[in-house]
Amino acid sequence: MSDKKGYFGNFGGRYVPEVLRASLMELEESYRKVIDDPDFKKELSDLHKHFTGRPTPLLKAENASKELGGATIYIKLEGLANTGAHKINNALGQALLAKRMGKTRIIAETGAGQHGVATASACARLGLECEIYMGSEDIRRQHPNVFWMELFGAKVIPVESGSRTLKDAVNQAFRDWTSSFTDTHYLLGSALGPAPYPEMVRSFQSIIGEEVKEQAEFPIHTMVACVGGGSNAIGFFSPFIDRDKPRLVGVEAGGRGKASGEHAVRMSGMGSPGIVQGYKSCFLLDEDGQVEPTHSISAGLDYPGIGPQLAHLGETGRIEFTSSTDEETLKALKFFARTEGIIFAMESAHAGAAAMKIAKEMKQEENLIINMSGRGDKDIFISAPALDKESWLKFLDEERERIHGK
Ligand SMILES: *Cc1c(COP(=O)(O)O)cnc(C)c1O
Repeated sequence: MSDKKGYFGNFGGRYVPEVLRASLMELEESYRKVIDDPDFKKELSDLHKHFTGRPTPLLKAENASKELGGATIYIKLEGLANTGAHKINNALGQALLAKRMGKTRIIAETGAGQHGVATASACARLGLECEIYMGSEDIRRQHPNVFWMELFGAKVIPVESGSRTLKDAVNQAFRDWTSSFTDTHYLLGSALGPAPYPEMVRSFQSIIGEEVKEQAEFPIHTMVACVGGGSNAIGFFSPFIDRDKPRLVGVEAGGRGKASGEHAVRMSGMGSPGIVQGYKSCFLLDEDGQVEPTHSISAGLDYPGIGPQLAHLGETGRIEFTSSTDEETLKALKFFARTEGIIFAMESAHAGAAAMKIAKEMKQEENLIINMSGRGDKDIFISAPALDKESWLKFLDEERERIHGK
């Protein structure tokens, strides 16, 4: 739990201008009322069952375990949820809450577009107007997700300020909300930002961990999840945090290696404490305290900040942090596809890569669970050129000709 002012140890809080304080307070009050309300819980769980496709399976990865020769590995197939990742859990929860609050319009930020897609889908289902702020640079790079958002009936609004990427989209969404909160909810995408978002997003994502608790009819020794903003990790770990077991491991994007400067490793010594976009946490900052650019092969981990509860649990040592490089991630993607017939999202494959190392040092009677936060179909524009460049280029050329109808 965060304390009254929304802190987890030294991190968190609500560092926002006065105009936003009122809407955050209103949101917090409504969230606290609704979260234990039986009607709300029933409606959300029915939606999860019939729309999201929950519970998602917990797969015993026997072939992978045998080949690695260490722990018995299980994989939580969260990527089988509707829209392909865990993001729908939060999008649906917040959209339903907004509806209860009498809001008719949803705004959201998106970077790679995954959160935008989940939000647009939830809004289509619940009949809410949806506008997504997205940096124009990201719109250019992430065309397929823009296409899906618009298909769901959302309006994608290009943001032309700053670096025209995620952080500029967040700023623009907050700016919108300062004048629109009477009819609008800002549906933030990860377990970060000013209170109450970190706690609220965690609670909507904790369904992942709650299901694991039900599904695992064996002692769990180790749990491994990738960490961008931290929502899939904190949701997966959530029911286990207050115990001293299992071992919890968060995996950050090692990019081209820590020494290269091209990565998104904030914990394990690379980040510094700071206050950015309304909350205090651990960020990648330069000497002037400006947010540094990051790099990762996976768009979803390419972020300079981390949720305040994860920063706190990293500081206390309850959660260990490690990282996987782009190269290790691609190897893990291939390994689990070949051994288990499943496609990890590029983000989740970071957890897969770290788990491969950790499992080898464990015994067969010990159990390790990886959270496959998303499935990798969406990454074909990254994985295919990385793993099979020539045939992918040939395919693209031929598609262009086919569409033009030569
Ligand atoms: C967005 C995303 C992430 C990273 O976000 P978190 O808030 O850290 O969970 C991880 N995996 C997938 C599949 C994503 O789409």
